[in-house]
Amino acid sequence: MKVLVINCGSSSLKYQVLDMTNEVLECKGLVERIGMEGSAITHEKIGMDKFKNIVPMEDHKDAIGHVLDAIQDEDHGVVKDMSEIGAVGHRVVHAGEKYAHSVLIDDTVMAALEDCVELAPLHNPPNLLGIRACQELMPTTPMVAVFDTAFHQTMPPESYIYAIPYEYYQKYGIRRYGFHGTSHKYVAERAADMLNVNIEDLKLITCHLGNGASVSAIKRGKCLDTSMGFTPLEGLVMGTRSGDIDPAIVTYIREKEGLNQGVANEILNKKSGVLGISGVSSDFRDLEAAAEDGNERAILALKVFAHKVKSYIGAYIAEMNGVDAIIFTAGVGENDIGMRDIICNDMGNLGIKLDLVKNKVRGKEMIISRDDSKVKVLLIPTNEELMIARDTYEIVTKL
Ligand code: ADP
Repeated sequence: MKVLVINCGSSSLKYQVLDMTNEVLECKGLVERIGMEGSAITHEKIGMDKFKNIVPMEDHKDAIGHVLDAIQDEDHGVVKDMSEIGAVGHRVVHAGEKYAHSVLIDDTVMAALEDCVELAPLHNPPNLLGIRACQELMPTTPMVAVFDTAFHQTMPPESYIYAIPYEYYQKYGIRRYGFHGTSHKYVAERAADMLNVNIEDLKLITCHLGNGASVSAIKRGKCLDTSMGFTPLEGLVMGTRSGDIDPAIVTYIREKEGLNQGVANEILNKKSGVLGISGVSSDFRDLEAAAEDGNERAILALKVFAHKVKSYIGAYIAEMNGVDAIIFTAGVGENDIGMRDIICNDMGNLGIKLDLVKNKVRGKEMIISRDDSKVKVLLIPTNEELMIARDTYEIVTKL
């Protein structure tokens, strides 16, 4: 069965078609600037050159229409007609406490996801638009929702309850939810395969370090704790997000600078993180180039980022009473040799010894710790789309 995976943002959309009989990626693409001038689709059939088509797309239905055309294209397509697509898997950011697993989408699920819009006002509405557009264009194809929050639903209350009046949890659902769950789950499962150990026997710390970044403590295959919280703003320092800060800072800066709530949110989400510290960039490649040129604030931004990852690793080792493997994934985790080195440096007493030669690798599954390292350090490229396709395939084949 072929599965179409859709990851729909407010003005962009990523897609892939995978043949799930052998888990082979057949084509992938990106639609940008939906509803804006210059909207375009970039499509790539694996093994062929990419093509980019600049076409007006008024809304998400238009965009999905172009995706369906591209995957049925005579030269660049991977199916003759849409009947070959057995199911569609949709990435959905927030399912609140409603779903701890992926689900077949029906009216009840759609209503539940509508209820979660308040919790993820930026992410869930475009996710829902993508689902509705697909339902209109493929009315008989089963669709599955795969949630970023689902994997973290196994956290115990002591991990997810904030120390604020309990009634806010009861009234508004204010608690830690965690995000990037599909990625944390994928790399944890791959780690167990690579180490040839049952996941039930492992304590893992997964570091998803991309533009958005989060760390999870995974014991016996279940999430025990994660650094992102009620929203994806909490936890690690990120490209442009502050991560953990003293909440009193927000009120203080608002008063000092006369900022309204919206501006404060914008500063914490878009102007903070390594960009805010360095004033250079949110991209680690730029930061490292600036650091090499002696830019003190770029050097500081990299140090603050690494310090935060290290402190979460320490906290999670304590929470799990040890760790068997630490996994690095996502843009920075997969590619930034220097950052992995700084994070793992000087943790020998915890049994963590990075192999500086093996660490000189990018984007490839590999054990990068020394042979005498008690804790294994693994580099595992994430593959959220494959995870979405797997869940979708599993649910639909059982129908
Ligand atoms: P997201 O999916 O959250 O947007 P990614 O996981 O794609 O982010 O990560 C993007 C980030 O990865 C970039 O901002 C960049 O900082 C970092 N990155 C990518 N390649 C490299 C590299 N070769 N060296 C250092 N950092 C890199």
